[in-house]
Amino acid sequence: MAAEAIYVHIPFCTHICYYCDFNKVFIKDQPVDDYIEALRREIADAFSNEADPSPIHSVYIGGGTPTALNVEQLERVVSSIKEFAPLDTTKELEFTVEVNPGEADREKFQIMKRAGVNRLSIGVQSFDNELLKKIGRAHSSDEAVQTVELAKSVGFDNISLDLMFGLPGQTLSVWKETIAKALSLHIPHFSAYSLKIEKKTRFYNWYQRGELQPLSEDLEADMYETLDHELTKAGYTAYEISNFARPGYESRHNKTYWKNDEYYGFGAGAHGYINSIRYANVGPVPHYIKAVNEERNPAREKHQVPVTEKMEEEMFMGLRMKAGVDKERFRRKYGRSCFDVFGSVIPELLNSGLLAETEQSIHLTEKGKLLGNEVFAKFLL
Ligand code: SF4
Repeated sequence: MAAEAIYVHIPFCTHICYYCDFNKVFIKDQPVDDYIEALRREIADAFSNEADPSPIHSVYIGGGTPTALNVEQLERVVSSIKEFAPLDTTKELEFTVEVNPGEADREKFQIMKRAGVNRLSIGVQSFDNELLKKIGRAHSSDEAVQTVELAKSVGFDNISLDLMFGLPGQTLSVWKETIAKALSLHIPHFSAYSLKIEKKTRFYNWYQRGELQPLSEDLEADMYETLDHELTKAGYTAYEISNFARPGYESRHNKTYWKNDEYYGFGAGAHGYINSIRYANVGPVPHYIKAVNEERNPAREKHQVPVTEKMEEEMFMGLRMKAGVDKERFRRKYGRSCFDVFGSVIPELLNSGLLAETEQSIHLTEKGKLLGNEVFAKFLL
């Protein structure tokens, strides 16, 4: 299946959070306008060079922070999609932009709306001001609420909030308060991730020096269970391990990744997956601009994915979803049934109660969810 989704990376931030290892730079003194021109060119070239590109049904502009751009810059980025990409006109496009609380004013939201953006992913992380400071976020809980209200007043209803748990010093009761506050905003989608201490972050340095104590695995597991319980009670479905949605609000873009489908990645450090090749664009902003301006492919790493690896990924990624791996889809994609490919693995996992099977799919059970990594490891060919 050809790529039908686009990821666009904006690597600028007005503030660097202590836990973040994404490809990003502090925006001050950066060649932002040159970057946007290079980005537009990369997008335009990708589609003009393809003889018959598939219609695009999902666009995600992330970062970094897209809303760190000024109004005019943001407009140039969001408008590049309609200008250059062959959008699917038969279905509604899912067009998401990441937003940081306190950074998007009414004008920025209106620009996004006019350009066809119809979904926002707001990086709230926590509604506890003390914790927000501890993790290096630049906004307060009130600013997050105001950003949500402002987005709604401009007409956005498909909004997702990002939340984090397992943060240093976070207690179960603080986490419960964040969940309750999030639910009070009547948002249709939440993504919630536990903290991972990554290299090249302030948290990593503090951890190495013994100045940062990660939470226990048990407490993290309790936090996840609390989240799952509270959101399920409130009518959300955990359609993927870390993602919860009201009916009809599952993210189409995220499903591209979990279904192991191909997608374009544009921008510095962006990852993409096209024609069975996974690639990563060069990360530093000046290198990226130079490559595009010199008409060189900005992809720095390329990996031709062998079919065995594709089938493994299909299982790891697909089993993250509540719907699981669609058996017929797997067979159509690879010409073999997943039972045939993975031999005794699936029957054994079914017998041990970690997987369950329906007529259409195989999926993790509640027990399997808790031992997800153990299950995924079984699918290494
Ligand atoms: S978490 Fe987001 S806002 Fe914070 S530094 Fe990373 S990309 Fe920037």
